[in-house]
Amino acid sequence: MKIREFQKEFEEIAPPTIAWSGDNIGLLIGRPENRITNILIALDLTMDVALEAKRKKANCIVTHHPLLFHPLKNITPSTRTGELVLFLTEGKMNVYAAHTNLDSVQWGVNFVLAEKLGLCDVKILSPIKNSLVSIIVFVPSGHVEQVADAMHNAGAGAFSKYDQCSFRAEGTGTFRGNDTSKPFIGKAGTLERVQEVRLETTAEQWKVGGIIAAMLKAHPYEEAAYDIIPLLNKNSEYGLGAIGTLPKPLSQKDFLGRIKKQLGLKTLKFSGKESSIRTVAVCGGSGSEFISDAVAQGADAMVTADLKYHTFQEFESHLLLVDAGHYETEHLVLPALAKKIQQIAKRKNHSGKIFITQQSTNPVHIF
Ligand SMILES: [Zn+2]
Repeated sequence: MKIREFQKEFEEIAPPTIAWSGDNIGLLIGRPENRITNILIALDLTMDVALEAKRKKANCIVTHHPLLFHPLKNITPSTRTGELVLFLTEGKMNVYAAHTNLDSVQWGVNFVLAEKLGLCDVKILSPIKNSLVSIIVFVPSGHVEQVADAMHNAGAGAFSKYDQCSFRAEGTGTFRGNDTSKPFIGKAGTLERVQEVRLETTAEQWKVGGIIAAMLKAHPYEEAAYDIIPLLNKNSEYGLGAIGTLPKPLSQKDFLGRIKKQLGLKTLKFSGKESSIRTVAVCGGSGSEFISDAVAQGADAMVTADLKYHTFQEFESHLLLVDAGHYETEHLVLPALAKKIQQIAKRKNHSGKIFITQQSTNPVHIF
């Protein structure tokens, strides 16, 4: 499997478009035409991880946190990142990052964390916006099914538990072709009135190119009429954070105990008054900006990381706010990521191995 083949497959299950706009994801080091040997998966790319990749003959390292985030002024051993980039390029290694796109999918960081804490009926906490479009196509009555099938097969009208979603309304279409036209119905130079169906469906914007190409192939007209309209609707299929419910309410003490046990923690930080915990929001890593979403959706508790003193203070009377550590709330995703990459490797008949790093890349230690 080549890097570009891996990238194409992976980005279908974790689209780059859903990542935070300032993120730096995708292929960070390497050539798309490079052939992958083995793959090593890690949360962070440290020198220990790079050395492990070399030992395991893995020329592709997939990480959650991007090694390259801020622009580099030089690539020399004088900085940690420069030393790593030199080591990786000299060793002909490829580096791929799946960061906030991995946070935003339902098999990613937050759903894994929610499952680990035993939450049920888990949904996205903060759905992404501006990702949906409405596609409207005008089709002669007898050809609606073939056009609709082609569009649905290319990914239109598929959401959550439903697919093949569309709306159809009959009406009259008019057109007149010039002397060079070859109209499918009627004659060139004559005003035609045709029974048509207005076929409407919706899709994520990153699927639009494929859907329109499929529609044009299936559409009988020389020039099909269609509209692509951006929607303001939220897309609850993707987004940051997750929210769900515990099978039965727990006391604050029992819930904190559950977090410690499930995440293997010796300590955690929290604020909040004693209360019964049923609805729980989670956001692996730095999730401060989603606490208000959790409160608005009636969460009794939120589990995240990197919380400031004043944030604990601000939400003290609203919910149980727990800082369970950045690494601790995110590294749980590595087996899920490995499983997805394993499936890609199988589809592409890739014979190399997929490893999860044996290094703990957590820079924070507790004494
Ligand atoms: Zn993180």
